[in-house]
Amino acid sequence: VRAGILAVGSELLGSDRLDTNSLRLARRLESHGVELVRKSVVGDDEARIAAEIAGLIGEVDLLLVGGGLGPTADDVTREACARALGRPLIEEPRVVAAIERRFAALGRVPTANNRRQALVVEGAEVLDNDHGTAPGQRVEVDGRVLFLLPGVPFELDRLVERYLEPWLAAHAPGGALERRTLRVAMRPESEVDERLAPLYDEFGREAITVLASPGEVRVRFLAHGAERSRRERLETMLRRGRAALGEAVFAEGEEATLEGVVGDLLAARGRTLATAESCTGGLLAERVTRVPGSSRYFLGGVVVYADELKSVLAGVPPELVAAHGAVSEPVARALAEGVRERLGSEFGIGVTGIAGPGGGSAEKPVGTVHLAVAVAGEPTLHRALRLPGDRERVRLLASQAALEMLRRRLLRADGT
Ligand code: AMP
Ligand code: MG
Repeated sequence: VRAGILAVGSELLGSDRLDTNSLRLARRLESHGVELVRKSVVGDDEARIAAEIAGLIGEVDLLLVGGGLGPTADDVTREACARALGRPLIEEPRVVAAIERRFAALGRVPTANNRRQALVVEGAEVLDNDHGTAPGQRVEVDGRVLFLLPGVPFELDRLVERYLEPWLAAHAPGGALERRTLRVAMRPESEVDERLAPLYDEFGREAITVLASPGEVRVRFLAHGAERSRRERLETMLRRGRAALGEAVFAEGEEATLEGVVGDLLAARGRTLATAESCTGGLLAERVTRVPGSSRYFLGGVVVYADELKSVLAGVPPELVAAHGAVSEPVARALAEGVRERLGSEFGIGVTGIAGPGGGSAEKPVGTVHLAVAVAGEPTLHRALRLPGDRERVRLLASQAALEMLRRRLLRADGT
């Protein structure tokens, strides 16, 4: 079964309302293994709604239309649907009676507007709505099915539960759609995509989705069908995905966080961490301590914004700052080594950079960040980065890169 969703409402085209109904509907479809092939949003315009319905119904087996069934003049989904299908609207006496009862209970008489809600596309089944005056409708069209559903999310949910769920259970017995996610930090989307190319050939392009967000790429694997074959396929895809992406994968699933993964590695190895931060202003320590139980491995950190404090609190030799500038490889190294020694941890992280918007130069533009990871008894590691984006983005990415750098170091077999 291939499905489409059409959300109707001019407010959904504005800048402050999201079409959240389609997310709820998509979740229902997924749980029945129904493939959603198209989603559309259209304003309260009869001709446009009709055109959308006419177009979509040609592409899908199941079309879910939400919104525009209310009593006001802008609610024209009924009329648009009738127009798209070339069928008349017929007043349904049962619905008129229900509307009159509802109003009578409130001591009122329905207006002509309210009676419009009793108009049903010829041949449609009325879907009773106990929680509003607008009923839904189910229309069959040449073996395809169209559901007209109310836009109010609560009412939509009730009708979905009562009418759509049974329809899906009867017509889409294919087993649920299931997703599994691999997460990668601080790698470009294009690189992840390239590494996955052989999997696209093997499992199909539509089975794998690459989703990028700041500092992270999610790779979603999708499978449907009966539980057993679906799980087997997902396991195979995950194994192949992990092999293709290697150490870049920091976690599987949506719950894990990079700071949590790093914390687990530190705890498993019985090692401790201290941080010295300049441009991230404590964000790194904040992320590390977001994890419950981080006191097992995080000793503490210093925020050293002023150059003088880099020396006083983290032991950076003033000559280094004078010779190379505060944002430099030697200073990052000295921050990491200094804070590690002073706080007595096995690992130390130093972060120094230019978050912007001011303070950049030709040589050191905004986004220049130096990271260092000091390890007891081992050479200190350093990375120079040019991070994109505004101040907030640069700071977030700097903390992300620092955590990822430490994670990679902790993965090494010697596990210092
Ligand atoms: P309607 O049935 O078009 O009169 O919609 C009633 C109300 O439901 C609207 O004012 C919105 O607040 C809400 N609504 C309609 N469509 C959606 C949607 N796709 N997502 C979220 N809320 C919606
Ligand atoms: Mg509306």
